[in-house]
Amino acid sequence: MPKWPWVGIKSLCGLRLCLVGAAALPGPVAVINVEEDSANPLHHVNHGIISPCTLDAGPDSVEIGMNRIPVIENPQYFRHGHNCNKPTTYVQHIKRRDINLKRELGEGAFGKVFLADCYNLSLTKDKMLVAIKTLKDPTLAARKDFQREAELLTNLQHDHIVKFYGVCVDGDPLIMVFEYMKHGDLNKFLRAHGPDAIILVDGQPLQTNGELGLSQMLHIASQIAAGIIYLASQHFVHRDLATRNCLVGNGMLVKIGDFGMSRDIYSTDYYRVGGHTMLPIRWMPPESIMYRKFTTESDVWSFGVILWEIFTYGKQPWFQLANNEVIDCITQGRALECPWLCPKEIYDIMLGCWQREPQQRFNIKDIQKMLITLMKATPVYLDILG
Ligand code: ADP
Repeated sequence: MPKWPWVGIKSLCGLRLCLVGAAALPGPVAVINVEEDSANPLHHVNHGIISPCTLDAGPDSVEIGMNRIPVIENPQYFRHGHNCNKPTTYVQHIKRRDINLKRELGEGAFGKVFLADCYNLSLTKDKMLVAIKTLKDPTLAARKDFQREAELLTNLQHDHIVKFYGVCVDGDPLIMVFEYMKHGDLNKFLRAHGPDAIILVDGQPLQTNGELGLSQMLHIASQIAAGIIYLASQHFVHRDLATRNCLVGNGMLVKIGDFGMSRDIYSTDYYRVGGHTMLPIRWMPPESIMYRKFTTESDVWSFGVILWEIFTYGKQPWFQLANNEVIDCITQGRALECPWLCPKEIYDIMLGCWQREPQQRFNIKDIQKMLITLMKATPVYLDILG
């Protein structure tokens, strides 16, 4: 069985990004101008087919010089439209004085994430709550990653993709401004609403959060499916779909919220290959593990794993196995077991996502229809969220 044919990681980065001064532009808009280096043209991957504008090296063969954490680069950061023409993306520019930090929310790939008030963002409100991601003392490479993510997020707009408001680049740290999703990441949310969850009050176990019911799980899953349908319609392959990369807002609104493909708080979910590349192997199909082929169909596989995460209240897939054992299992065709109390119809959807042949896997639109049909047939549980 092939093990790690790609362990040798090459280093390349075919883009130069430069920030054109906001002052030269009308309104609060900065242009991030992406320049193609003729020697190192754009990566352009569409459904796993590497287009003529792709570099020789594989799409993941990138070392990014960020100091704190290793990153896998998604070549689709480099994609603008469906061709390799020199692109221009308009990223909203927010003034530092309009951002007022409130408290820390978490730690992200680029730096800390904070809750903040942001002024002059909404036409109807004087200020609004936002989540800001910071990038402190960036290296040049980290700055580039930051800018690429900003461009990517500016271009991706959908009800089930976290809303990106813009960047703040007048000084240090660099900041990205997002809509605030009150309940944080979906993995934490699932664990907090599982059978073992308890709330500590003054260090004492006091009450449970209330377990998620079947209709709520289906509701969560169908929203993520909607986000993936949108990404697929944009020919965008995410490559790191997992509950840790989704966010939960008011009324159990769920959105795909992370395109960074890297994590430190969830570092055990990634397998390090070579020096700097981390792969979320537990969410990856055989062809991604063996040949690093990432497609909409490999995103569908990951969606099947997300379903499994939802129905296990946030367990780590193959939690009982070490990374090399997981690779053996997946490449040999073993599937995750049906979660306890998970209806057969839903496990059948998971199995449909985990067909070995990518073309045999269920289509994400059909999956969403099935989830909605099941949801309609499921008694509604009391809403556990205010
Ligand atoms: P990165 O993409 O840089 O890795 P993350 O998106 O993982 O950063 O953010 C780290 C943590 O911060 C998340 O696990 C979540 O708890 C919190 N967080 C991130 N974005 C938001 C948001 N928009 N609203 C609320 N909490 C957020």
